[in-house]
Amino acid sequence: MTLNIPFDNTYAQLPPQFYTRQAPTAVAAPRLLAFNSGLADTLGIAPSEEAELAAVFGGNQIPEGAEPLAQLYAGHQFGNFNPQLGDGRALLLGEVVGTDGIRHDIQLKGSGPTPYSRNGDGRAWLGPVLREYVVSEAMHALGIPTTRALAAVATGETIWREGALPGAVLTRVARSHLRVGTFQVFAARGETAALKTLTDYAIARHAPDARGPMGLLRSVRDAQVELIAAWMSVGFIHGVMNTDNSSISGETIDYGPCAFMDVFHPNRVFSSIDRAGRYAFSNQPEIAVWNLAQLATALIQQYEDPSDAVEEATEIVHAMPGLIEAARLRRLRAKLGLLTEDADDPELITDLLQLMTEGQADFTNTFRALMDAEARDQFLDPSGFDKWKDRWLRRLEGERDPEAVMARANPVLIPRNHRVEQMIAAAVAGDLAPFERLMTALARPYEPLPGFEDLRRPPSEGEVVQATFCGT
Ligand code: AMP
Ligand code: MG
Repeated sequence: MTLNIPFDNTYAQLPPQFYTRQAPTAVAAPRLLAFNSGLADTLGIAPSEEAELAAVFGGNQIPEGAEPLAQLYAGHQFGNFNPQLGDGRALLLGEVVGTDGIRHDIQLKGSGPTPYSRNGDGRAWLGPVLREYVVSEAMHALGIPTTRALAAVATGETIWREGALPGAVLTRVARSHLRVGTFQVFAARGETAALKTLTDYAIARHAPDARGPMGLLRSVRDAQVELIAAWMSVGFIHGVMNTDNSSISGETIDYGPCAFMDVFHPNRVFSSIDRAGRYAFSNQPEIAVWNLAQLATALIQQYEDPSDAVEEATEIVHAMPGLIEAARLRRLRAKLGLLTEDADDPELITDLLQLMTEGQADFTNTFRALMDAEARDQFLDPSGFDKWKDRWLRRLEGERDPEAVMARANPVLIPRNHRVEQMIAAAVAGDLAPFERLMTALARPYEPLPGFEDLRRPPSEGEVVQATFCGT
């Protein structure tokens, strides 16, 4: 019996300079660790045996209709342009149009070397594979656009990082893997024909109503606006907002050193490699604008006279900060139970965040508890909060059903770092129970499910995770 995936590939039909055809490298002993059968149903993947799934999603068997390839892209990494990156440890197996009517990429991550691997081994270890599985699925359940996790397979091989670690392969599903960096590579090379082909492809796939490169730019901007505002409303720090990790579809992509904040601080950074704090929490809107400016710069290279598009591109990019702030305020208002708008709302929101910073309040639990008497316990010195709460309660007068609005906007559960780290440690020791328990709880993040109260708790002093590491 072979696994039936209804492939319908379009990227493999693009000109050869877009990618390198590359088969996955077989692994020693593929073993299925996790499989997302709900997502598989959406993708039209028929149920199959575990061994079969492990063989395909470990890279040992190429399913019929797959056309594995490594995609080419470039990117600004921490502000510096790298003219060639590309899938160094990932392979696009192909695409399927799901029962949702959406075209999805199916990609293996950790599937062996490609021509773009540079000095890397093309592999991933179990930790980042399970981290991405848990955090991306949690993100999806929170209602935030993201790539999804379809499968995690242990390879039975040892990976060398800080030491010897168990290898794994993640199967990731995305609306596409087009990034800002995909446009940058052809723009930087002066390959205008390829740039035009890519632009048309992206419009057809992601913005069918968009007219021309500037229409695409506008639609990418709008998708990124909603994405960044959503991150800012749940305390998510992506950690590596390089242009190669900035998706044209507006999905969260590349869960490396990402983290959800426990105690709120606007300048919070987790990534061990982000020493200057370029990708700190409150810098994310500005970085998203910077990344869009790089996309604009790449897109205008396809005009006969690029100066024709400069004015429109500038207008599109310059409007972005205001749009992000408006979207962020809309989400934060909902977190406060407010559906109407008042000129004083930004101040009300800023003041609460300031009190949370000073009071070292837990971001998620403070918002969830606002209605309850215990909210003040989140603050080191609750007196400032008490005054703020009086202001807020006055502002709430006349709002319709604020409790219901807040319950939908304030999750009970986020994938807290210390739980993710504990889950990884257990998995490395062969125990997947914490992984499965996290997946169960995080599938319904807005519901205070009995039996999962411990997952709501911030880390104890000994559990605090200070830094997260790039998921290589
Ligand atoms: P990332 O920081 O994960 O977005 O990756 C940046 C670039 O490094 C991409 O081109 C990756 O494909 C490549 N890369 C990361 N890890 C590895 C690895 N273990 N082997 C080969 N290439 C890698
Ligand atoms: Mg990346």
